[in-house]
Amino acid sequence: MRLLLILFVPLLLWGQASTPAFVEAIPDHIQARMQVKARAAANAAIAGQALTMQSFIFLSKRWTGPPSRAITVAFNGGTDDLRKSIANVVSEWSKYGDVKFDYMDPATGHYREWTRSDTTFQADVRVAFDGIDGPGYWSLIGVDSADATIIAANQASLELQGFADNLPADWAGTVRHEFGHALGLMHEHQMPVGGCDQDFKWQDDPGYVPTQDLNGAYTGDTQGHKPGIYTVLAGYPNFWPQSKVDANMKQLTVDSSNYDFGPFDAMSIMKYYFDPSFFVSGTMAHCYSSENTVISMGDQAGIRKWYPNTGSNELQDLLKQQNSMLQLLGKSHQMQNVKVSK
Ligand SMILES: [Zn+2]
Repeated sequence: MRLLLILFVPLLLWGQASTPAFVEAIPDHIQARMQVKARAAANAAIAGQALTMQSFIFLSKRWTGPPSRAITVAFNGGTDDLRKSIANVVSEWSKYGDVKFDYMDPATGHYREWTRSDTTFQADVRVAFDGIDGPGYWSLIGVDSADATIIAANQASLELQGFADNLPADWAGTVRHEFGHALGLMHEHQMPVGGCDQDFKWQDDPGYVPTQDLNGAYTGDTQGHKPGIYTVLAGYPNFWPQSKVDANMKQLTVDSSNYDFGPFDAMSIMKYYFDPSFFVSGTMAHCYSSENTVISMGDQAGIRKWYPNTGSNELQDLLKQQNSMLQLLGKSHQMQNVKVSK
């Protein structure tokens, strides 16, 4: 068991500053089904829009339905303490828009659970910690999580591998990121106008002689030449072919998908950390940032826009504000009266 945990550790990093890091990606078999569906249901591009500060979303993958519809969440494994910790962090997304998550099974009064033998979806978002459906950390995008043409009821839609054994130091940032995907948010570094394509150092330094460490990770050669992204990700621990690198790293285009986005936000929780060596200009690259662990102002603005509080909520908020103002006025009036009477 101890050996297993040690082996897992380097596989589970998407945002830590150590290299080489495992780069998060939706498992290939699920990605393939998503792409087929995306092509079949291609929506008109959103072009020439005025860009306001917000993050990057796949609009048609937003959760819709009656206003204030809660997104149900079920767990496979993990203690109630872990589930509660995750739910507490996820609730941060609910501060910024009409985003509600529902974790409790009304039949049992406990956290909702799903199993590997389910034949119907027990919840919109199915969290696993075992990595069976794909290693590391990943989540399907928005409503894909409960789309039977993409994923089965007995499969995870959101993976937090290893959390049930040992919570990593940056677990809360990972939870924010993966549940951002579950709301429909995309990777900020793949934003169509982000320009990260130009920042990334795709190719090896001229004259680079492929050099690997004992694990199989590509490193600089004896002359100080460095490998590019394609080479780094082809080695340990990712072993990605170029096509997979392109699918997960290249800027997305607006020609076939219903995207909405603002200007690139380097602080977005949806932009994950890349080592400076991934960029032509290192830490000076505009797509470079230190590790983002919190929901940025742009992320907040995106949620406000894409999950707007409905009329009923706004009315309730207004009524609350009005009531508190009336109370304040009443107090002020009473105080004035007291003064006058003196
Ligand atoms: Zn991600």
